Amino acid sequence: MTHTCPPTREDALLRLKNFVPRAGGAYAKSRNFDLGPDDRGNVSVLSPYLRHRLISEDEVVRAVLSKHRISAADKFIQEICWRTYWKGWLEQRPAVWSQYLSELARDREAMAGNAHYQSAINGQTGITAFDHWVKELNQTGYLHNHARMWFASIWIFTIKLPWTLGADFFYRNLLDGDPASNTLSWRWVAGLHTRGKHYVARAENIRTYTEGRFDATGDLNETPDPLEGPEAPPAGRLKAPMSVPPGEPVVLLVNEDDLTPERWPIASEHVKGVVLLPADTSYPGLAEHVLSFRSGAIADAAARAQRVVGCPVLALAAPASEDAIALCRAHGVERLVTAQVPVGPSRDTYDAFVGQLAGSGIAAMEVRRDWDSAFWPYARAGFFKVKERIPETLERIGLM
Ligand SMILES: Cc1cc2nc3c(=O)[nH]c(=O)nc-3n(C[C@H](O)[C@H](O)[C@H](O)COP(=O)(O)OP(=O)(O)OC[C@H]3O[C@@H](n4cnc5c(N)ncnc54)[C@H](O)[C@@H]3O)c2cc1C
Repeated sequence: MTHTCPPTREDALLRLKNFVPRAGGAYAKSRNFDLGPDDRGNVSVLSPYLRHRLISEDEVVRAVLSKHRISAADKFIQEICWRTYWKGWLEQRPAVWSQYLSELARDREAMAGNAHYQSAINGQTGITAFDHWVKELNQTGYLHNHARMWFASIWIFTIKLPWTLGADFFYRNLLDGDPASNTLSWRWVAGLHTRGKHYVARAENIRTYTEGRFDATGDLNETPDPLEGPEAPPAGRLKAPMSVPPGEPVVLLVNEDDLTPERWPIASEHVKGVVLLPADTSYPGLAEHVLSFRSGAIADAAARAQRVVGCPVLALAAPASEDAIALCRAHGVERLVTAQVPVGPSRDTYDAFVGQLAGSGIAAMEVRRDWDSAFWPYARAGFFKVKERIPETLERIGLM
């Protein structure tokens, strides 16, 4: 078990190519089985790449639909759309992220030195499956979806630790650690997303879907009540999507949540430079393998920008704007264009950067990808509203 995800778009494309033949009925039948870290053939392991958009949802779905009918690949496409749903839901309720951060700070303080917490994060609870997943997460930066569900449920309902500390443990160690998918999935397991509906890990289910690798009989609380918490705030309005100004010279500003600058519909003669914001280091305690995946992914985006866009590329070591302003001025550019920066630490990095542009005569503009513009408006309540619109939305954005 080692970290086996090179942080490159090339690797993402290769993984996609190898996975596509299995994205139809085979995925639907086998995806719930966690066969262990050496046997991940039933799932795509694309999440670290999708997380940073080294590859994007539309590319994955296009490739899958080139080999399968939508009726065969519907399960896989729905899973891709779960990611989109969580992103869109959080975008319309940013307060849920800030509430998570403040609850986390409070819980961290209250639980510092707590023996149960320490034994959980060190994989020494005595629950064999759980302790195995802690090691697997540390060693690979990945867990199967079903293992994530079991893990979160055991953390919350059997070990009875605060859900925020579990979400934090995942976020710091997963290569795909994502403010939306992670925080909201933990809330969902706890029964805080769909209030009163929680996910209960059962020994029999773990035994079946790990093909007998783990027997947790007698170890789990299988009759817990859901957690109680305040109602999520109502969904706010999405900012109106902006589009890239046609014909205007721009500098692309790349943030770590969208690392494919070459996929913007801007003619290369109008792109005068590319500026890459640094990976977030403000979230405390990110694992070494996570930091190195993220900085590697940014370096890969810089190399591609150089090769594909063919213009000056500036990778910033800190979100300081002087060099970016100088680059814009040198090329007569008044606008930095970036992919919409989602709620989470990247948003803070971006806002700090934009704050420093004040008075420079240079403005930054966020542009939403078509995929997000098409799906996010449906991500206001439950997932069903997104799911029922998948075929017509894919058609509308030209994927079917
Ligand atoms: C408690 C918990 C925490 C999670 N934290 C994260 C996280 O931080 N980042 C993250 O990307 N996913 C998270 N997930 C969702 C899911 O577990 C992973 O996306 C998935 O396991 C990634 O493996 P894969 O790429 O092999 O998935 P596949 O089964 O091959 O699915 C393809 C893609 O669809 C998306 N996807 C699949 N299932 C889900 C799902 N349930 N929710 C959202 N997107 C999904 C992912 O982008 C994934 O790469 C979490 C789930 C749970 C229950």
